[in-house]
Amino acid sequence: MEINLPKGTHDVLLDEARGYDRIETVFKAAADLYGFNEFRTPIIEHTELFVRSVGDSSDIVRKEMYTFKDKGDRSITLRPELTAGIMRSIVNNKLYATQDLPLKAYYVGPAFRYERPQLGRYRQFNQFGVEAVGVTSTLSDAEVIMLGYNAFKMLGFEDILLKINTLGDEASRNAYREALKTYFASHLDTMCEDCKVRYEVNPLRILDCKVPEDQAIVEGAPKMSDYLSMEAKEKFDQILALLDAFGIPYEIDEALVRGLDYYSHVVFEYHYTTKKGVNVGAMGAGGHYDNLIADLGGPALSGVGFACGIERVYALLKDDELLVDTQENTDFYVMPLGEAALQDGFMIASALRAAGYRTEVCLENKNFKTMFKRAERKGSRFALIIGEDEVKTETVTLKNLTTQEQSKVAYGELIEKADELFDLEEEHHHHEE
Ligand code: AMP
Repeated sequence: MEINLPKGTHDVLLDEARGYDRIETVFKAAADLYGFNEFRTPIIEHTELFVRSVGDSSDIVRKEMYTFKDKGDRSITLRPELTAGIMRSIVNNKLYATQDLPLKAYYVGPAFRYERPQLGRYRQFNQFGVEAVGVTSTLSDAEVIMLGYNAFKMLGFEDILLKINTLGDEASRNAYREALKTYFASHLDTMCEDCKVRYEVNPLRILDCKVPEDQAIVEGAPKMSDYLSMEAKEKFDQILALLDAFGIPYEIDEALVRGLDYYSHVVFEYHYTTKKGVNVGAMGAGGHYDNLIADLGGPALSGVGFACGIERVYALLKDDELLVDTQENTDFYVMPLGEAALQDGFMIASALRAAGYRTEVCLENKNFKTMFKRAERKGSRFALIIGEDEVKTETVTLKNLTTQEQSKVAYGELIEKADELFDLEEEHHHHEE
């Protein structure tokens, strides 16, 4: 009997795997440009880490975590996001004392949330993200927002919608929370059960509610901008001015509060709608945090970061056909006909690979028609045909699959010929540029 995937998980195969690889490569290149280093932290962490960071008023901690007792009776959780693990590792390794600030980390890997699977929403998904810790300047915030924006540009996205908001400092948020409590008190009895809990633990969370009737009530709620301290407003304005200066368009969205408890000051999301009108929700999101490191037992250092969902980015890139260069492309496809030719073809393929050429050899006994089809599917540039005659004369027939030109090359001269062919192409490319 076949065994199916657990709900909300998916296999990443072939084109999709190549697409993910491309997304990760581009994000890493962008992070590298900005001087970020890779952090690889465990997938399992103590449950307490997420309760203290993501926060017990968040939906994630309240109902979406994969939490279990291990055989030693410890409460373990599959990470629902990667920021907490990075912060824990910064604290555990005292990196703030040994490295230059801001500490700049990037990460990529799976995260797990027990959510209702739907478009762009999985139970196991992959995140790429960055964190910059230890410099309070809004320049650090702007740097991270710009890094994300530029990475999406590098992937080929054009009209990226950057939504941005500020949650202010603690004093601003406390004042705002009180105002929300006063406002929602008179509506609460008609609102969803979740909102009743949110009202008690963190009324800001109500602004996130997806229930249509509740959203109508949320529309009339007080606005954060009316409760910002002077300092908080100034910080926000500084960031907006930087974005203006660098020509990064944004839209202020006062309903943007983010589903994690640790944010303060600037929060932001990257959105994109494909030419066919597909929108998968935020493809990336992040913000500034003030207490995360201290809450995990470290010094009072603030930070800023964002995470993007590889699944969502892939879906958008694919829908807009922005992944053309991730097709398979083999340099040589070796086509042996018969047993003796296969032996020779195998040797030739090994030699070509040793010389750095992507080479595929047909190991099955197939006719030329089939082998040409396979070469095409592999995106192969050249075919190397080896039949009985070729074996006898120790030559291959080299066929350029673009121009259909054919020539004979002695076994012993093949590498030299390959170098010549690919050098020529490279020169040709340079001339075009
Ligand atoms: P968050 O950690 O909630 O701020 O999410 C950061 C990014 O991760 C989002 O903008 C999404 O692109 C992605 N993401 C979050 N949850 C999921 C999910 N369940 N499935 C796929 N992607 C997700």
